[in-house]
Amino acid sequence: MYHPEAEPNVIHHEIAELAKKKDVWVVSQNIDGLHAKAGSTQLVDFHGSLYHCHCRKCGEPVSWRAYLKSDSHETCGGQIRPDIVLYGEGFQDETLEQATDAVRKAELIVIAGTSFQVHPFCDLVQFRAADASILVINQTPIHLAQDYEFIQEDGAVVFNKIQELGAEHD
Ligand SMILES: [Zn+2]
Repeated sequence: MYHPEAEPNVIHHEIAELAKKKDVWVVSQNIDGLHAKAGSTQLVDFHGSLYHCHCRKCGEPVSWRAYLKSDSHETCGGQIRPDIVLYGEGFQDETLEQATDAVRKAELIVIAGTSFQVHPFCDLVQFRAADASILVINQTPIHLAQDYEFIQEDGAVVFNKIQELGAEHD
């Protein structure tokens, strides 16, 4: 699961770029830490990140590098695990709060590159403001109770265009 050499793609980069000009919050289902690597700071890793680990016994944070060497905590012998939400596990209150806040405050909600079927992630959209717009960028339509604008395209293609347009304006 660990690919520390992986680099953010155009989607990660353009979202981080956009956040310099607009008040952008990223709520991600990915656990690969690439939005953070691209520089997004208003970020909710909804299912956690492989690159944040802690000891189950003493609760201390542990570096992922230490975890890859041994899953036993050097100082207390407890088991180390990454801070990711496994199937059937509960969510941290703080994560749910940050994510629902981000949706609540948004004028525009962009849902990109997901079939949007994983609960409770896909329920977040219910927290949107009544006048918020929704834009979906995906190769197939998604099921939503709300109306949405739809760009049927791979996210990377769309964000490449955004990058080109941005370059022309610089
Ligand atoms: Zn420990």
